[in-house]
Amino acid sequence: MHELPVTEEILKIALNHGEKNGAHKIVRIYLSIGELTDLIDEWVQRYFDYLAKDSMAQDAKLIIERIPIRVLCDECGETFEVDKKIMDFACPACGERSAKLLSGREFTVKSIEIM
Ligand SMILES: [Zn+2]
Repeated sequence: MHELPVTEEILKIALNHGEKNGAHKIVRIYLSIGELTDLIDEWVQRYFDYLAKDSMAQDAKLIIERIPIRVLCDECGETFEVDKKIMDFACPACGERSAKLLSGREFTVKSIEIM
């Protein structure tokens, strides 16, 4: 995933929200981003600053919450967290190596603070 189209999307959502609510300014945008997405917080903010220039979202701060990678074991149904750096994992309960992804890929705008 690349930061620029994603950031455009964030800005679009924020501006829509701002217009609908008669905002003067968008102050903060709270995002939930899964650990599995390769977005870099600093770049998201940098692109955002660039794209939001001269709009009501100019100078808005992005608050990014990282969602851990959680999987569901195919064998025993145990759910557990997986470290992004150690994608070679096994179920802590039964040792099975195949699992379904439950979270870690999300990308959502959680809330928007306006003035
Ligand atoms: Zn298991």
